[in-house]
Amino acid sequence: MNKLENILSKWNFKKIAVIYVIAALVAGICCVTAVGIIYGERLSFAINYSRLDNALEHNDYQELCTAVDKTALATDDVIDILVLNSDNKVTYSSKNSEFASDYLQLAKVGDEKKYLASEKYPDTVFKYVKNDEFMLSSILNKDFSQIRSDYDDDSFYDSSVSSKTIYMLSCINSEKNDDKIYVISNPTSVPGGMTAIKISAALAMFFFCVYWVLVALWLYSDAAKLKLSPLYWGLIGLLTNLAGVIVYKVYKHSITVCTSCGAAQNNENLYCSYCGSQLGEHCDNCGGKINSKDCFCCHCGHKVK
Ligand SMILES: [Zn+2]
Ligand SMILES: [Zn+2]
Repeated sequence: MNKLENILSKWNFKKIAVIYVIAALVAGICCVTAVGIIYGERLSFAINYSRLDNALEHNDYQELCTAVDKTALATDDVIDILVLNSDNKVTYSSKNSEFASDYLQLAKVGDEKKYLASEKYPDTVFKYVKNDEFMLSSILNKDFSQIRSDYDDDSFYDSSVSSKTIYMLSCINSEKNDDKIYVISNPTSVPGGMTAIKISAALAMFFFCVYWVLVALWLYSDAAKLKLSPLYWGLIGLLTNLAGVIVYKVYKHSITVCTSCGAAQNNENLYCSYCGSQLGEHCDNCGGKINSKDCFCCHCGHKVK
């Protein structure tokens, strides 16, 4: 028995599996809770935001205003959420920002489709973001300063750019009429958000690697106990993991295990090739091997039960 076999023979894999499952569950619950708490505000915003298009399709104006207010209050990142009619007249504003007065007519800046501006607000540029992308970036909050530098790159020819304020804007259009909702926000990064995600990802990777290696070690140890080739089965476990375990189980089903020394033996063997012990039950008449459920010997027909 080599050193590794010696160490592994002392391991109780059932106990290790239970400890592993409990540890993985505790770590998983802690990570989900931590990320949930850290991103709670953003998730609440995203959920409320996803309901806005539904509220816009209903005819109940009061219900729409309530939904708009709920979304706007979910995070401080929201500058304002405006409801506009078909003439681009602002009919409701949740935060009464500077953009809430009367009409808000947006036009694209230069040839860039993704930037919008209004003559009324010469110091502001809106970066237009599609709904799904807007929701996702509101949760994950990629560094918004990137948008600023992207805009500076895109409009390098305009020297007045650096003095402009850039907001992110998403538009929800009604399919029934031309009413629409503008969501204007200034995304800030979630404090500790990226750290929590990185720690969670590292922990998930750690538990996955431990699981993978444990499966290979169990195969190695079990094959060593059966006096099969442990290195061979350990490698199969390391390379194929669960598929290797299934093949091993099927193989184990097709052999006999000596009750005295635990060695794997061919089903036809009458005696163990390692310790000489008798394998299974034998016919009293011919000495042939019989199964415990047999009523007659399959070699000579002698009644065994
Ligand atoms: Zn034996
Ligand atoms: Zn017989």
